[in-house]
Amino acid sequence: MMLSREVLDELRVKPGGPAKLTKRSTSHTKADWLGTRGDEHEAKRLAAEDLAGFVAELSRAQELLWANSKHSLLIVLQALDAAGKDGTIKHVMSGVNPQGCRVVAFKQPSSTELAHDFLWRANLALPAMGEIAIFNRSYYEDVLVVRVHPELLAKEHDRPEDGQREDFWSHRYQDINRFERHLTRSNTHVVKVFLHLSKDEQKRRFLDRLEDPTKNWKFSSADLVERGFWDDYQDAYEEALSATSTPWAPWYVVPADHKYELRALVGGIIVDAIERTGPHEPHVAPESAASLEQAKRALLAET
Ligand code: ATP
Ligand code: MG
Repeated sequence: MMLSREVLDELRVKPGGPAKLTKRSTSHTKADWLGTRGDEHEAKRLAAEDLAGFVAELSRAQELLWANSKHSLLIVLQALDAAGKDGTIKHVMSGVNPQGCRVVAFKQPSSTELAHDFLWRANLALPAMGEIAIFNRSYYEDVLVVRVHPELLAKEHDRPEDGQREDFWSHRYQDINRFERHLTRSNTHVVKVFLHLSKDEQKRRFLDRLEDPTKNWKFSSADLVERGFWDDYQDAYEEALSATSTPWAPWYVVPADHKYELRALVGGIIVDAIERTGPHEPHVAPESAASLEQAKRALLAET
């Protein structure tokens, strides 16, 4: 089961072109694509059906990825607060074997991390062959939160005023593109997803976290401060996605206002990405076939 080419093409930021975030829907559903707009029940049913299919597909493909151990998959998830990164990871990856999968959260860098270049900590967290790694936030924070708050550069760079220079950021985009080129040439496939949330929906989710005692723990007042920089973040995302969606590591922009839709679409994007790694039953070389036969005979001969 796969997402249609049309949907994948529509969600993908065309390499070399602008991301056009303001023109992209944050609330589109499959029902809209199929023209059955307005019926939420139907939209949820379609999404749940798709998600179940993608989860099963992912489970199968991951086993083959692991069995062959010749390729790996890096999934980068970026979003503003409350867009649904955690829930997406939980639902989409529910069928994969934890042994071959890891999730790495990129928080404020530690002093050791700050003492290295901005890609260093990402290197330490890369998936080994056969593995899937999900970056919950990523090295992209260094062209997003750091771009919105260039004063953060004082911590990671000896010349914080560099953040005022356009070419400082374009060099970071170039470095990221080169880094991802290197990864894909080394059989680490890279797929990047931006969860595109509307400002209204973020407000609703924050209010929900404040009003529902079982969700209070999810709210942080820092999130409200960052909400104040909403437009700056949209600009930073627009620039970063436009500059770093490449043929080898494309960005997908997924409408995030409906969680059920978001999860189904991310599931479909990941299935497409893992299919590109060419999963297949592991080949048994003739010499290993002989030794398997020998092992079988030895076991059967045991008394
Ligand atoms: P959740 O809130 O669901 O637990 P989260 O990803 O928002 O998930 P937090 O601990 O709330 O996690 O926030 C992590 C913060 O660290 C984010 O605000 C992010 O922008 C910030 N951050 C990540 N990387 C960097 C970086 N390189 N420099 C500065 N801040 C960073
Ligand atoms: Mg947070």
